[in-house]
Amino acid sequence: MKPMGPIPPWFAGEEGMLLIGGYGAASLVDEAGDTPLFAYDMAIVEAQVRRFRAAMPPALHLHYAIKANPYAPLLAAMAGQVDGFDIASGGELDMALAAGMDPARISFAGPGKRNDELEAAIFAGVTLNLESEGEGRRALAIGHRIGKTPCVAVRVNPDFHLKGSGMRMGGGAKPFGVDADRAAALARAMIDGGADWRGWHIFAGSQNLDAMAIIETQAATLALAARLSEAVGVAPPLVNLGGGFGLAYFPGDVPLDIRPIGVALDSALESLPDILKPTHFAIELGRWLVGEAGVYLTRVIDVKVSQGETFVVVDGGLHHQLAASGNFGTVVRRNYPIAIANRFGADPAAEPVTVVGCLCTPIDRLGDKVALPPVQEGDLIAIFLAGAYGASASPTAFLGHPSPREVLLG
Ligand SMILES: *Cc1c(COP(=O)(O)O)cnc(C)c1O
Repeated sequence: MKPMGPIPPWFAGEEGMLLIGGYGAASLVDEAGDTPLFAYDMAIVEAQVRRFRAAMPPALHLHYAIKANPYAPLLAAMAGQVDGFDIASGGELDMALAAGMDPARISFAGPGKRNDELEAAIFAGVTLNLESEGEGRRALAIGHRIGKTPCVAVRVNPDFHLKGSGMRMGGGAKPFGVDADRAAALARAMIDGGADWRGWHIFAGSQNLDAMAIIETQAATLALAARLSEAVGVAPPLVNLGGGFGLAYFPGDVPLDIRPIGVALDSALESLPDILKPTHFAIELGRWLVGEAGVYLTRVIDVKVSQGETFVVVDGGLHHQLAASGNFGTVVRRNYPIAIANRFGADPAAEPVTVVGCLCTPIDRLGDKVALPPVQEGDLIAIFLAGAYGASASPTAFLGHPSPREVLLG
């Protein structure tokens, strides 16, 4: 038997049926028409937003990094919950605008922005988080051509990283942002070139469960923003401090307590260097806001035995929920929390089973030697923590299976 991660505390069963947003999992599948289904509970997202606001300084803005989950009904609901969207493509720009987010509250990061994406963003009045000097030059030229002033921030590749992050996005040689020692010169060139200066974007890492590491990184981020702003000689309207709040996906993971982060940030914002006194600050989060709100429901097609090991074959797989197969940003494959939705809370069988997807590849493994109640054909398997980097981050075209269904509850 191999352990699995903890089921998020929001979920309970009623007469053996997993409830999601107050509805039984089986009736959600009936309503949606079939499996596989991603069900998202907006009440959980809203509770996370409330938790953030309660812990953080009141002036701190909360941005949603929409690549975590751009499902249109969820985005529309998010637009009323957060202070801004962070996007990373022209396609996400369209989604953010369709969700009703004010373009002045959208910022656009990501390396390799094409000219047509830059033009659409400049036209809409979205802030470009510049990833290079070349991108800055193109933005000025496009702004000039279409007669619109580009709003720009500079994304800084910091000279430090967030310790213990699942995905390192700063420190060392990186395709993201401009190295800290060239960032002020780029900002100055953009201001001199006539751009509307929006400030700094400093994102040092993702999926972190260590509050102390996040506190240290935020302090270093504030110091860097102050140093760069002094060098430019202009107070930045906004400093995006990055994010990195992680979730407990795996056995032994201890959920992040964000309260000490809020306390530290509160005192840091109380004693800012003069150049940052007029500045607004934002934190951008993806998975922490939406990850626990989603459950992936997939039906058991077959239960088979090979050389003494039982395989539970489901109608979903890594083409919808790549992360649960261990092939999205993790080095070692570990088990996401899994349950039988229609036997929720029942005692596990004596022998563990391996839950595999329907794809013809050995990496399509959703649960490796997990302890589940006795499984039968037709059962519904629930994979938790499916609210972020699920449907939109998985290779849905691979092997020609249907796309998953999605539903937003609450
Ligand atoms: C992906 C990304 C995020 C969101 O990361 P999470 O781990 O989902 O919170 C935030 N900011 C930037 C720049 C990103 O690329």
